[in-house]
Amino acid sequence: MTDSKLSFYRLPLKDLNDLFQRHGLPESGPALLYNWHYKKKHTAPCVADLAKVSREFVETSFDFTLPSIQTVQESHDRTVKFLFALRDGFTVESVLIPFNNKYTLCLSSQVGCAMNCSFCHTGTQGLKRHLGTEEIIGQFIGAARWLSQARPGDDKILNVVFMGQGEPLHNFDAVKTAAEILLERRGLGLAPHKITISTAGHLPGLRRWKDEMPKVNIAVSLHSPLKEKRDQLIPLNRSYPIDEVVAFAEEIPEGRARFVTYEVLLIKDFNDSDEDARAIGRYLTGRKAFISLIPFNPFPGTNYQRPEMERVEHFKRLLDHYRIPTVIRKTKGDEILAACGQLNTRFGVTRPLTPG
Ligand code: SF4
Repeated sequence: MTDSKLSFYRLPLKDLNDLFQRHGLPESGPALLYNWHYKKKHTAPCVADLAKVSREFVETSFDFTLPSIQTVQESHDRTVKFLFALRDGFTVESVLIPFNNKYTLCLSSQVGCAMNCSFCHTGTQGLKRHLGTEEIIGQFIGAARWLSQARPGDDKILNVVFMGQGEPLHNFDAVKTAAEILLERRGLGLAPHKITISTAGHLPGLRRWKDEMPKVNIAVSLHSPLKEKRDQLIPLNRSYPIDEVVAFAEEIPEGRARFVTYEVLLIKDFNDSDEDARAIGRYLTGRKAFISLIPFNPFPGTNYQRPEMERVEHFKRLLDHYRIPTVIRKTKGDEILAACGQLNTRFGVTRPLTPG
């Protein structure tokens, strides 16, 4: 964004409408701009069909710069990891995860992260800064443009998860606005149940969610309901204990979240015992919960290890006794450090952008 211009990609459609109205511009302009930049994903400022007076306003008022793709890594399972360069020299990563000829896009919300979770590569970076809405939306548009060039006909991004670098609720305003833009049906048009925002348990953000967040799914990183273990995995648990986090997550009204997914990262000989499974089962019994089991993904410098698959499957069978819907999340992209918990922009740059 230049000093005098506002990034176009920061504005939800309602704000763009207000702006046009305040300047006495034709009311058809904002929808045309959304169609041009989000549906069609053009790079040039909208010229087609826009009234001359609106065109002049757009050209003098808005900046259309987005983060640029610095490198792309593709793994054998067709997972794609992007390194995006930001305007101030920082970089962030995003990951496209393939399933059934479609993709889930994992977005970053911060450069680094302040939460310092002990199992997470990003946590070792510390927080550099929050991302702006345009930098979050820019990851989506960049990935979509790359897919349509590199994998034409196999380029549908169906789901978006805020599970990349950063704690999304620590950057609440930018993430909320990005969710509004992703949902806008005259633009990117994602369905509400196709967007999931994950949190390590950031209570101030959860408090705001109840009244402010548009209707999207929420995922809470549980990992263990046992205080000592969760403190060790997620230091934030010492400030915002899991009981309070769960109470707030459950209070989010139906209109602002569909159900709560609890993510359980399984680490060998740390939280993968039968007793750990029973503790989770007891803790979530009676709640409107869904469990996602994630075998730990190793990264350089960690002492944690991934459990054997038989142990993970046994853990799931134990949870099945409690009748809580549980899935094992399949690991994808780990060979390029693109799997859950492995993102870190100090590592992993291997080759320049070459679609295909
Ligand atoms: S797991 Fe999420 S919240 Fe924790 S350090 Fe990593 S990016 Fe931050």
